[in-house]
Amino acid sequence: MGHELRWGLIGASTIAHEWMIDAIRAQPGNAVAAVLSGDRARGEAYAAKHGIAKSCTSLDALLADPGIDAVYISTINELHATQAIAAANAGKHVLCEKPLAMTLDDAHAIVDACRRAGVVLGTNHHLRNAATHLALRQLVRDGAIGRPLYARVFHAVHLPEHLQGWRIAQPSAGAGVILDITVHDVDTLRFILDAEPVEAVAMTPPPSLASEGVDDGVMAVLRFDNDVLVQLHDAFTVAYAGTGIEIHGTAGSLIGRDVMTQRPVGEVIVRDATGERTVPVVHHNLYERSLARFNAAVMSRGVEQPAATGEDGVRSLAAALAVRQAVRSGERTRVQAGL
Ligand code: NDP
Repeated sequence: MGHELRWGLIGASTIAHEWMIDAIRAQPGNAVAAVLSGDRARGEAYAAKHGIAKSCTSLDALLADPGIDAVYISTINELHATQAIAAANAGKHVLCEKPLAMTLDDAHAIVDACRRAGVVLGTNHHLRNAATHLALRQLVRDGAIGRPLYARVFHAVHLPEHLQGWRIAQPSAGAGVILDITVHDVDTLRFILDAEPVEAVAMTPPPSLASEGVDDGVMAVLRFDNDVLVQLHDAFTVAYAGTGIEIHGTAGSLIGRDVMTQRPVGEVIVRDATGERTVPVVHHNLYERSLARFNAAVMSRGVEQPAATGEDGVRSLAAALAVRQAVRSGERTRVQAGL
């Protein structure tokens, strides 16, 4: 029999609806077997809409199903840790959304539980799967800009109305732009620069869309362990800025335009003493690549790695928490992933 991976969706979410169900089904031998929702009627409607045979309201029941090999967790952030640890203990492979958890202790507990159970753990940081970011990483590795000195990330967007729920109003669920977007920036920078964030300073404006006490915009500066200084601008409230990333080095600059996005779009430009050129990239679906890498990790019994591992999820969370702490304290704050 060929490779089979039967998925249980933990969370009847927007991201699964918009991207992940299709991405799972695009993998040979993969199927969506069940969906878990806290609300029976919503879960049943979601299952019917997506042609999923089974919907349930009990995590234990979903995890007891021997017909499920792996779970994709895309609930609100506060639930990730409990659900991921339970899934690992039930022997299911785990692909978990970012942020991996709301605290570092919980994120470590997820990694430990998956290691103990011998199951694959991936964090769904989609951006490092983009053809543009893969090209940027390769250009840095090839020395196209000499030694990197600075990076800037432009990730200020307008949060679509249908996502303006818990993200802007419910701190206990893991609301805020830092847990939502800054984690992605950090993961992408770690991937491109092959370096780790060390410390952060940051400020937020008073919220204009989110509830009092919830960050809906942030500007931060992080120092990485290769001495690259990184500037981040993330927001839920900026409709027309466009997204991008820039890496500036001793011999040139890399410009990624429209690349901090879920869609397979954007361009990569190199600017140096010889002028400016666009680097050809062949776009592909970011989420399908994430799933393909997860499948490879399962099939190879852990010899291959998911695109972003559990440890990657711990590190991006540690940096996001340092940014948040820097905002709250007004002080330069160390990133301590504890790995
Ligand atoms: P949603 O708000 O769509 O879903 C989260 C949970 O909220 C669901 O599990 C569901 O609970 C409940 N819910 C959803 N819609 C409704 C509704 N209409 N009425 C009542 N409850 C509802 O979250 P997202 O899909 O935006 O995000 C889920 C996770 O995925 C988060 O951790 C987020 O950070 C991450 N994410 C990652 C992205 C990426 O590209 N990597 C992109 C977007 C999100 P129940 O399951 O109990 O029904």
